[in-house]
Amino acid sequence: MEQTLILIKPDAIEKRLTGIILSRFEALGLEIAGAKVVCATEELLREHYANLQGSPFLDGVLKFMLGEYNHLPDHRIHAFVLRGENAVARVRAALGATNPEKADPWTLRGQFGCIKNGVMQNAVHASGTPEEAQREINLWFKPEEVLK
Ligand code: UDP
Ligand code: MG
Repeated sequence: MEQTLILIKPDAIEKRLTGIILSRFEALGLEIAGAKVVCATEELLREHYANLQGSPFLDGVLKFMLGEYNHLPDHRIHAFVLRGENAVARVRAALGATNPEKADPWTLRGQFGCIKNGVMQNAVHASGTPEEAQREINLWFKPEEVLK
């Protein structure tokens, strides 16, 4: 069964959107195989966003993901492993485009995202490919925290 990593980003946590976002994935028939609240560190986020190394917006993304633009008392991220047939592509379709101003209005990023402080504050991260999903799940979850 295909797995994918979901991170509820600080903008969505601040707006108490975690339940609404999760319910959309459950409605797709996807199963929650792992769930946790993580106090993220810059080190973890740099590893997670290794693909953005050298890009001009990496610093802004790190600040955003550490909750510096939102009213949160800590660096919390809500992390989930979802599984189901074709989970990676189906979750990405539900998310919409990376840029929330270009995302279709019925997608999660189209509905809940915005651009602020020069960062696309787009509510949810989801893995882009099955290979990316395995790398990211290993980064955020221990093997025993995910259903077999
Ligand atoms: N990002 C941004 N500006 C950009 C590109 C990316 O603020 O021009 C942020 C945005 O939050 C995005 C994250 O960096 O979700 C990771 O970028 P990626 O290209 O991997 O997009 P995603 O896979 O999240 O759609
Ligand atoms: Mg990506």
